[in-house]
Order: sequence, then C-alpha cells, then structure tokens
Amino acid sequence: MSTTSHAQGRPQGRPQGRPVAFFDMQAQQALIRAEIDAGIARILAHGRFIQGPEVDAIEAKLAEFSGAKHAVGVSSGTDALQIAMMAEGIGPGDAVFLPAFTYTATAEVPLVLGATPIFVDVEPGSFNIDLVDLRRRLALVTHERRLRPRAVIGVDLYGLPADWPAIRALCAEHGMFALDDAAQAFGGALDGRRLGTQADATALSFYPTKTLGCYGDGGAILTDDADRAELYRSLRTHGEGKSRYEVLRTGMNGRLDSIQAAILLAKMPLLAGELAARRRAAGWYEAALGGRVATPQVREGAESAWGIYTILLRDAAGRSRVQAAMQAAGLPSAIYYPRPLHRQPAYAAAHARGIEAGAPPLPVSEDLCTRCLSLPMHPYLTEEDVGRVAAAVLAGL
Ligand SMILES: *Cc1c(COP(=O)(O)O)cnc(C)c1O
Repeated sequence: MSTTSHAQGRPQGRPQGRPVAFFDMQAQQALIRAEIDAGIARILAHGRFIQGPEVDAIEAKLAEFSGAKHAVGVSSGTDALQIAMMAEGIGPGDAVFLPAFTYTATAEVPLVLGATPIFVDVEPGSFNIDLVDLRRRLALVTHERRLRPRAVIGVDLYGLPADWPAIRALCAEHGMFALDDAAQAFGGALDGRRLGTQADATALSFYPTKTLGCYGDGGAILTDDADRAELYRSLRTHGEGKSRYEVLRTGMNGRLDSIQAAILLAKMPLLAGELAARRRAAGWYEAALGGRVATPQVREGAESAWGIYTILLRDAAGRSRVQAAMQAAGLPSAIYYPRPLHRQPAYAAAHARGIEAGAPPLPVSEDLCTRCLSLPMHPYLTEEDVGRVAAAVLAGL
C-alpha cells in the first residue's frame, strides 16, 4: 500500500470541498504530536535504540489489547510471517496454503523459505480464503504425496476476519500450522475475541497506513503459546540463546526499533476510538451504497477492523467509469489488488508446480481483481466526506 500516491496525489478536476485523504495520518499525528516528540526525546536520552524499554512496553500493550498471551515485536509484517514460519521449520518440500487474492507478502514468505505456496480461491463477499476450495486443494496435494501440507495462512483481507474456527479445525485435523495474516486487521474480532487468538500465531504489520501504524516499518507476532513466543524472540535476534553470543539456530535480524515502539505507544490510546470511527464510516458507506454496488460482507459474529473499504462494481468497464467519476470530483481511490498472485510473474512458476496434475482454476480471485475498488477509509472521515465519495461512486454507475 502506498502512503503517498493516493493520499497526496494532486487530484485532477475541480475539488468540491475539503480534500479527502485515502488514508489520513496527518489528522492523527496532530492529536499526539507532543507524546511522539517526548517519546523520541526519551530514546535519544537513554540511547537504547535497539530492544529498548519501549519495545517491552508495546509488547505488553499489544498482548493486553488483543487478548493474546504473548506479543513479540518484529521489524515488519512480512518478517512477522517469516519468523512465524521459520519457527515451525517450514521449508523445502512443504506446501503452504494461502489465498490468491491478497498482498504479495503473504506468498513471498513461503517462497523465501523454500516452501511451495498453494494458491486457494476466496469467497466473493468476504474476500477471505474459501474453505471448500482449500479442502479440495489439500486433498490434491495429499493425494500426490510430493509435498507435505504444513500450514494455512488465512488473511483477514481489508480487516474482515476469515472463518477462523473452520480454518483452525481443518489445520488441527491435518496437523497443519494455522497462521493469521492480520496485517490489515488489527482490532478486528470474531466471536467476541479480537484477532490475535484465533490462529496458532497472528502476524501484524505496523506499516504507516495499517489500522495501527508506526512511522516506518514494524510488526508483531501474537500467540498464546509460550514456546512459540520464545522461539520468535530468539529468531528475531539471529537465533540467539539465553546469553548474547550463543547461537542456537539460524535466525535473522528482525527486531522492532525502540523509536517505532514509542510511536506505537503514543497511538495505542487512540486505537479503540479509531476503530469505532472506522466502523461508523463503514456504516455511512453501507447506508449510501448498499444495494447499488456490492459492499463488504462481514461474517456472522465478526467485527471488521475496516483497514480498507472495498466495493465491487459490475465489471472492469463499470470500475473504470467509477474511477473516472471519482477522479473528476477530486477524490482518491485505489485498486487492491489488480492481479491475483498466481498470475504474478514471480509466482506463476511456483503455482504451476504446486499441484502436478494441474491446479484447478481460481475464478473468484481473477474476477475480483477486475472489478474491486477501494474507497477512502480512515478514522477521521466525516459523514460529509463519505457522502461526497458515495455520490461520486453513484454518479459513475
Ligand atoms: C501490509 C501487509 C503485509 C506486509 O506487512 P509489511 O509490514 O509491509 O511487511 C502482509 N500481508 C498483508 C495482507 C498486508 O496487507
């Protein structure tokens, strides 16, 4: 996700009213600027830039907010996924099931570790991994006996929680690791429990535009499992043991900086209110657009974190018309994502060799890419902002 191209790109046409940001980090910064400056000043004074007390403090807050027993701060959402998979020993010969319709990082990590991604189709309304298709591909991989099914990465795309009880049950049945890519969904909940306790481990990203973002790269892994948490702490620091220069395993440099932790500490008190504000904005969108275009479907018992707000138009031409209408009104929009991962040049070969008999098609992922459109979403949208966006969408239909 770009922090600049849509939020600050100069709109064409005549802007009508105040500019509407796609993601808005400036309004939030104005509220907490003093805490941020003070937090950074404290770190400049104590000098513990790496693994400083701010990292311990934000880990405690993340665990408390999510309800997970352990939170381990890491250097990015991508590294959170990687460390979680390294801890399971996932590598060559292993199959990792993940949706074809998600951000590239979800597929990149198994490939970096030498494992094979098996792309799974998604549900058209919730954008989450489709359990029927997942079971079908799992059966194919199991039947071929070439790859060991090792993990499922469920993605709470746009903030919408996936069907975790079903994913967990399938993983338990087949001895697979359930990993939640909640990079877009921190603050979302399912059956009264926040994301962070739904899978064996949950990866968070603090990329600036996420629901909780720092001012650089950052991430965390949440888990209820003490042994896993200890492994994550070791892996993020080059596989170190109890003493500093004892190397127990091959790890990486995957730490969260003290300064980024301080930014997150300043933002934490705003988070609950911001999630409520996102929910309110989603409600305004639903009231204005529901029935006219396909709006996001929140699973029963779930609460979306509303990280991104995505609608579906009838087809590619319909999407182009709406994009043009929004641009003419000086309003930003974005396409997350224009191409399914199995069609990316970097991943197509892995997709082709994943299931030797030939992978079944991924029609929903392919279709969504042609007609999804994401609208401005952040906690500082006013009802008037949403009304203007919705009016431009309707004008383009
Ligand atoms: C942002 C994102 C990531 C990666 O997070 P980074 O902090 O940018 O590394 C992974 N998965 C999804 C679904 C994301 O949106």
